[in-house]
Amino acid sequence: MKRICVVGTGYVGLVTGTCFSDLGNEVRCLDIDEEKIAKLDGGNLPIYEPGLEELVRRNARAGRLSFTTSYPDALRNADIVFIAVETPSGPEGEADMRYVRAAAQMVAKQLPSDRLTIIVNKSTVPVGAADLVAQIIRRKNPTASFSVVSNPEFLREGNAVADFMNPDRIVLGASEKEVGARVAELYAPLKCPVVITDLRTAEMIKYASNAFLATKISFINEIASVCDKLGADVKEVARGMGLDRRIGASFLDAGLGYGGSCFPKDVKALAHMAAIHGCHPQLLRAVMEINHDQRRAMLARIRSLFGTLEGLVIGILGLSFKPNTDDMREAAAVEIIRLLQHEGTEVRAYDPVSSNVARTILTNTVLHDDAYSVADGADALIVVTEWNEFKNLDMARIKSLMRNPVLVDGRNLYDPQEMLALGFNYSGVGRGHLSLDVQALPSRPSKARTVKRPAVPLEEG
Ligand code: NAD
Repeated sequence: MKRICVVGTGYVGLVTGTCFSDLGNEVRCLDIDEEKIAKLDGGNLPIYEPGLEELVRRNARAGRLSFTTSYPDALRNADIVFIAVETPSGPEGEADMRYVRAAAQMVAKQLPSDRLTIIVNKSTVPVGAADLVAQIIRRKNPTASFSVVSNPEFLREGNAVADFMNPDRIVLGASEKEVGARVAELYAPLKCPVVITDLRTAEMIKYASNAFLATKISFINEIASVCDKLGADVKEVARGMGLDRRIGASFLDAGLGYGGSCFPKDVKALAHMAAIHGCHPQLLRAVMEINHDQRRAMLARIRSLFGTLEGLVIGILGLSFKPNTDDMREAAAVEIIRLLQHEGTEVRAYDPVSSNVARTILTNTVLHDDAYSVADGADALIVVTEWNEFKNLDMARIKSLMRNPVLVDGRNLYDPQEMLALGFNYSGVGRGHLSLDVQALPSRPSKARTVKRPAVPLEEG
């Protein structure tokens, strides 16, 4: 049993702290956000993450997990301190280290000199950040006895508890092997491969992993655009590719691109690091460009169909950046909604869990309580997040409610043939001959506007 302090009780910190307490350790979770801590003290979760609430309650009840806003309280007798604060994008794409710096300074003040405290960077931080944290602590508290370890996190929101408890690997960077081994002991019950390496290599493993996964997504999205033009179906292409074990099936889903609090900022930060050290990160730049293009291409499809976006009523299904989370950071929905509103579209939306978060971000968007009321009177529906709930909708009812049955499936959730049979004007991403631009638009009952039918290019279809 170790005494652990986790600084930053967000998606990563709360999951880390809770899971370590579930493994039998005594954990104090610290945050500067008083509201968050008050909620947790009251047994409520400040975030949505499947399975986490029950685990928090169970371990809090057992006295192994507690929450505080006080650094002295949190660090008293701590053997290991995890820093899990946010590292958002700065103006140049760099990782903004101000929260990590502040946390390191506050931690430094509490460190004793008579026994070793291990400080673990769990936040995704630029290469060299462990040295920076060590410097900050040394400057603030010259007599402190400490060692800094890098332990990047690979969990996925929406599956965070399961990912934490069943990791593919644990990566630890340490300048002293025995200190790395002490952190590795915490993970021993998980029985997974542990890579112990030097600090900078561990930090780079995290960025390289996220950049590679983002590259897979942008790769398949680029292939999807070509499929659309040449009449191939990207879903089948991805299946055929993914069965090759050298390639693998995951992260080959064409759609509206990656979002969330990690991939966008981490690819940007890696490109920034590379550029300022004299490299030319052209692949990473292309990955980011393709990701942006995916969202704009969706709008272009609808514009080409109606001739304009001005005055249309468009429904958005799904707001979170992916299913099973309420996280809307860098969500495709946010970018798409802003672009639509900029062009004079009336936007309404529904998400199974993100409404509270959405209210603080999307002030001009009407939020509905279900998909059917979003469809009612809409000119087009765009599926932005692939929630399971959307797979089971009564699509005949959805169609009957719409003013124009235009279905833009940004996540390739539906079977194109089924949607066409129901009478939708259906478009997926990279579904070849089933693209919108080669289908005729049904006549539009609206008095307000006339609809331009798209020309059917002869070489397609
Ligand atoms: P988050 O924004 O959900 O949580 C960060 C928390 O830290 C917030 O509650 C904030 O109030 C708190 N905080 C900020 N400064 C503090 C300070 N000085 N002292 C105490 N608390 C402070 O962020 P997150 O999504 O949990 O991400 C944390 C880090 O983990 C980031 O570097 C991120 O890149 C990385 N990461 C995130 C994920 C993910 O899926 N979210 C996955 C892997 C890695």
